[in-house]
Amino acid sequence: MIVLKTRRELELMREAGRISATALKLAGQAVEPGVTTAEIDRVAADYIKSQGATAAFLNYNGFPATACISVNNEVIHGIPDKQHVLREGDIVSIDLGAVYGGYYGDNAYTFFCGRVSPEAERLCTVTKEALYLGLRKAVAGNRLGDVGAAIAQHCINQGYGVVRDYTGHGVGTHLHEDPSIPNYGTPGRGMRLLPGMTLAIEPMINEGTEAVRVLKNGWTVVTADGKLSAHFEHSVAVTDGECLILTRC
Ligand code: MG
Repeated sequence: MIVLKTRRELELMREAGRISATALKLAGQAVEPGVTTAEIDRVAADYIKSQGATAAFLNYNGFPATACISVNNEVIHGIPDKQHVLREGDIVSIDLGAVYGGYYGDNAYTFFCGRVSPEAERLCTVTKEALYLGLRKAVAGNRLGDVGAAIAQHCINQGYGVVRDYTGHGVGTHLHEDPSIPNYGTPGRGMRLLPGMTLAIEPMINEGTEAVRVLKNGWTVVTADGKLSAHFEHSVAVTDGECLILTRC
């Protein structure tokens, strides 16, 4: 079921989004060689708490941390770990959300740890561009397939693999609401977008093939070929014009 949000609800979602975006920014600023992923998680957790919000992912289906931190070949759902020390050249995808007034924000960004390879930089640039191309299609009257096609086409053109096993999603009073939002699709197909829909759009793009697998911890998704993966996400509200990015500082 798709729930269209009222103006009042969108205000709360903007606040949840602001907290989510600021927590993500602060976590990203903590990324540097020698820092552990657990320390980065702590930065995000402390900020969310300081705002009177709660961490959206903590205990979600048993997830043990505030942020998913996925390094290099890890695609999504990496678990922060005090043994995992970041190294120069790592790309570090941080995905986190906050709940405020009963509403969720959800966002992700792939940060650089020190200087990264040109290949890693290009993957991240293209994935971020793909997110914004998708957002540009998230307009009332368009269809979900328009969003997914815009994302996929840009990445496939660069020779990258578009992860199909995981998708974006509606977001609101729950972290994951309908509809699911694949990062691929056919223009003009799929559900029609309406003003008041709130969507988390999140391309997960692999340097190599689209194939992924889940590690034995039951959470961490990695590329099957061991190559790099990048992930960028915003929560947005559909309007008659440009979508409203909710996860903004
Ligand atoms: Mg999400």
